[in-house]
Amino acid sequence: MSDGTTSPATSSVPRPRPGVAALRAYAPDDTPCAVDLSDNTNLWGPPPSATALLRELPSSAMARYPGLDARDLGRVLAQYAGVAPDMIVTGCGSDDVLDASMRAYAEPGERLAYMDPTFSMVPVFARLSGLDVRPIPLTENYDADPGALLAQRAAVTYLCSPNNPTATSLSRETIERVVKEAQGLVIVDEAYAEFSGLSVVDLVARSERLVVTRTLSKAFGLAGLRVGYGIASPAVAREIGKARGPYKVNAVAERVAVRVLRDDAEWVRARAADAVANRERFVTTLRERGLQPLPSAANFVLVPIRNARAVARAMSERGVLVRTFEALRPVSPALRATHGDAIRIGIGPWEQMEAALGALTEALRACA
Ligand code: PMP
Repeated sequence: MSDGTTSPATSSVPRPRPGVAALRAYAPDDTPCAVDLSDNTNLWGPPPSATALLRELPSSAMARYPGLDARDLGRVLAQYAGVAPDMIVTGCGSDDVLDASMRAYAEPGERLAYMDPTFSMVPVFARLSGLDVRPIPLTENYDADPGALLAQRAAVTYLCSPNNPTATSLSRETIERVVKEAQGLVIVDEAYAEFSGLSVVDLVARSERLVVTRTLSKAFGLAGLRVGYGIASPAVAREIGKARGPYKVNAVAERVAVRVLRDDAEWVRARAADAVANRERFVTTLRERGLQPLPSAANFVLVPIRNARAVARAMSERGVLVRTFEALRPVSPALRATHGDAIRIGIGPWEQMEAALGALTEALRACA
């Protein structure tokens, strides 16, 4: 260097932040299988208007940046959710909205309290924001424990209903109490609300501390496009939007999402109803076979099974991919009986559920 100082050794590798180095990368089993029931997406595929629009997209949808803040999408989502447009914040999947909510409302070192078990990315996002994570066990009937969550006096409290991976719903009373008495921001994750028909979006009008997150990845069949949103008071939505940053919903995704929300809301509702009907039939069959699936309000079921990893592998060898969970917090007798091991099975067209039943029966036999 011209000033005579030495430059840092160029051979040394940069070191990641210790919190990042300690994380295990998100790596669900992605073995290619003819029937993939592993990710809770819409197994009927994307809505017809999405496929039609993609065929006729103008090149301007690619060469230019999307509109700032996805305002067109915000307007149609507001209509869908029955709120004002300035109460919507969109993102690259609801992952993005969850992540930005934590960044907006908690300083590094502050607490994130969350119900456990729940969506596995929540403590990951929190750690990446430098937060102190406080898992609070679900009760034996899969409700959240409001007293224990509130006692954490967390900067952010996370609830999920219907919950992933348990598929169970929280009681409205619990959510209302947490929203009313919490100190900081409360996130209620409603990624699967279309399957339960239950929502607490109405509470947003009464609370300055609530954000309800939703997604087009599940009932709407658009997981590959990565579109999620939050519903909050205008002030909260604005702060989360600032923490998220601009241009997170890409131009193609925004156009498709707007079209689907305008033209295919009925298709989405009908497929969600199909998923619920098939879920009930599937759960009944599992029970007849002596299994104890948790009561599901979503488009998937969690089935506690001993030796879940081996059973899931045996199923994938038979062409059916499901998600394995090991050592989930054993909050109920059904989960205690398997030491928290379980498989999560997505619900789709009945032929796929028949394939799942066949593969599961054979896998249980093979692993007995
Ligand atoms: N919340 C829950 C409860 C989920 O299960 C998922 C997806 N697995 C997400 C949020 C994130 O979904 P996306 O980023 O696709 O909107």
